[in-house]
Amino acid sequence: KITLGDDILIICKNNYYKDAVELLNKEIIKKEREVERFKNESDLKTQFIYNISHDLKTPLTNIKGFSTLLLNEEFGNLNEEQKSYIKIIIDESERLMQLITQILDVAKLSSGKIKLDLQKVNFQDIKNNPSIKALEEMATKKGLFFVFNIDYDVPEIIADPNRLIQIFVNLISNAIKFTDKGGITIHISKKNKNVKVEVIDTGIGISKEDKAKLFKRFYQVNKTRNEKTGTGLGLSIVKGLVNLHGGRIGVNSEPGKGSNFYFIIPINGPKSKKKVKE
Ligand code: ADP
Repeated sequence: KITLGDDILIICKNNYYKDAVELLNKEIIKKEREVERFKNESDLKTQFIYNISHDLKTPLTNIKGFSTLLLNEEFGNLNEEQKSYIKIIIDESERLMQLITQILDVAKLSSGKIKLDLQKVNFQDIKNNPSIKALEEMATKKGLFFVFNIDYDVPEIIADPNRLIQIFVNLISNAIKFTDKGGITIHISKKNKNVKVEVIDTGIGISKEDKAKLFKRFYQVNKTRNEKTGTGLGLSIVKGLVNLHGGRIGVNSEPGKGSNFYFIIPINGPKSKKKVKE
């Protein structure tokens, strides 16, 4: 059987260039159709994940809502054992909700469906955000120190404030989860046209081999330690969000001593011609 390459060679040798061009054109059209088909299939897959995740969220919200009403003894008194089981139902539905939200984010990131809501963002506001304050409280309750330092010359940046909080929450909650002694330091500094954010902990650290794979989906280094609380999706989402902002993420770590997760993002926002809300 003669392959496309052979065909063209024969045609060219015989100076039938017009035939060669025609053959190549046909091949290009065929490949273009294939690419279109793959694209449609991948869009369908993303849409499917999207719909399923939304459909799962509604009943889950009801489960959590009614369990909370039960726990608050709105429908009658409960004994301690009944209360403890209902608390488990609430905790588990929260975990499931978090997993669904993360799967949705992964699907949206891979299909390019996350659109940033770019605005001027002040790091002082991030420091005072309720979600960050809640993490500070969580760290303190665990007996850890919690320091949030913003250098005096750090300017406002152009970013999506909610997505930025999501990045901070992910990195800080990981730092708390994997630290038993010492504490967490967040340091924000200006580096030329960028801002560098570091989340430094004194926790278990990460080996050299694991460092390379950390930002991949579903990767968990120590499954036994956090199998009840983690999904292995957090860092891959954080990386996707940092990249969307035109930045990059990295980690320095020494096993047993702690980790320094950092990201660097441009002060003026990602390089696109999007309009910025004042
Ligand atoms: P998870 O939901 O499991 O925390 P992540 O993607 O956020 O998923 O993290 C992936 C893995 O990276 C974690 O399971 C953990 O093994 C490791 N890891 C993340 N942050 C830290 C940290 N600060 N110190 C040590 N290990 C960490």
